[in-house]
Amino acid sequence: MSVLQKITSEDAIALEDQHGAHNYHPLPVVLSRGEGVYVWDVEGKKYYDFLSAYSAVNQGHCHPKIVEAMVSQAKTLTLTSRAFYNDVLGRFEKYATNTFNFDKLLPMNTGAEAVETALKLCRKWAYEKKGIPENQAQIVVCENNFHGRTTTIISFSNDPIARTNFGPFTDGFIKIEYDNLKALEEVLKSNTNIAGFLVEPIQGEAGVYVPSEGYLSGAKDLCEKYGVLFIADEVQTGIARTGRLLATCGNCSCADKHCSGTPEVKPDILILGKALSGGAYPVSAVLANDAIMGVIKPGNHGSTFGGNPIAAAVGMAALDVIKDEELAHNAFELGTLFRAELNKYIVNSNIVNAVRGKGLLNAILINDTEESSTAWDICMALKENGLLAKPTHGNIIRFAPPLVMNEEQLLDCVNIITKTLSQFER
Ligand SMILES: *Cc1c(COP(=O)(O)O)cnc(C)c1O
Repeated sequence: MSVLQKITSEDAIALEDQHGAHNYHPLPVVLSRGEGVYVWDVEGKKYYDFLSAYSAVNQGHCHPKIVEAMVSQAKTLTLTSRAFYNDVLGRFEKYATNTFNFDKLLPMNTGAEAVETALKLCRKWAYEKKGIPENQAQIVVCENNFHGRTTTIISFSNDPIARTNFGPFTDGFIKIEYDNLKALEEVLKSNTNIAGFLVEPIQGEAGVYVPSEGYLSGAKDLCEKYGVLFIADEVQTGIARTGRLLATCGNCSCADKHCSGTPEVKPDILILGKALSGGAYPVSAVLANDAIMGVIKPGNHGSTFGGNPIAAAVGMAALDVIKDEELAHNAFELGTLFRAELNKYIVNSNIVNAVRGKGLLNAILINDTEESSTAWDICMALKENGLLAKPTHGNIIRFAPPLVMNEEQLLDCVNIITKTLSQFER
């Protein structure tokens, strides 16, 4: 069957249903084209994309500069493996390490692989530099975390749907409450075998939980005090999504166009994925300075596709677009406007309890139970009204449009959202 052959939404859904594993529960919309902040379904209906593939499409759909970099590299050289050098990877590594201010980058493909890489790096550092006894290293993580879907990563998830019947699990993780510095200090003080603290600067999948002011810098200070690596999972929050190049930029003034990309809270290990791909081709990376990354030696770790020429070309173009188009600044401005507009609506609403977020990573809390179908029903109505979003955790709807949106489009979206919500007021 040719992919150019026309297919109806109904047929496309039936095909996936019959031949694909049911590991997702998609909204019933079949997309066949994307451009900027818009996607079109196979029947030609146009939507605002308010998920951006979980923040992988920050630069907008089919960004010409990213597509051009990908296509031209695809016509030249696609894959060599790391058994040989290629002429693009080093340039990408230089560009990304300069951008994020680290000595070294280790390229992978997906977010979960990059998290796995960071965990292995942290453990090896702990044995070889910190002197933790063999196989005793512990990594502190947060409750309600989301770091991906591999066996080790779900070992420290507390989502029963992600874990049930996937055991036995990987040892060596201690879970503490998110946004709780006391809990972090307690565990660091009481256990000398702690190698690292893995944290999301904002918990995206859990429902866009923004920690208290000072949490990240406080956690970094505690990690320094106890000689523990601060590992920031910025797979979802990074690359301008939260109004800064990185969410760990905290309150530095880099929301403006002079953003240097230097984080105020500098992680020891930085994990990037999603929008490092420009939404075009999987690219993820782990960044660290020599004192840490130096423990990795040939044969310790790798991936056939990690650092391939297409990924390297796409990664550079993806970062270029973020800088050229000042998308961190745009996310900051539009995010502020978005929350202000929704807060106006909420005053007289009994269906929405709150809006929260940073930059263009936001969520609304629906006034109903996690088990209710209200959030799903609202997303179905939003779809009818031309805007695509998806509930996370039952009663929370995440709103994360591409960062290339303009103010007029954003206000149009606010209109669609508030009009739709008002259909559900009771
Ligand atoms: C999406 C995500 C991951 C996993 O990325 P994949 O590319 O889906 O493996 C890891 N951490 C965070 C914070 C994420 O949002």
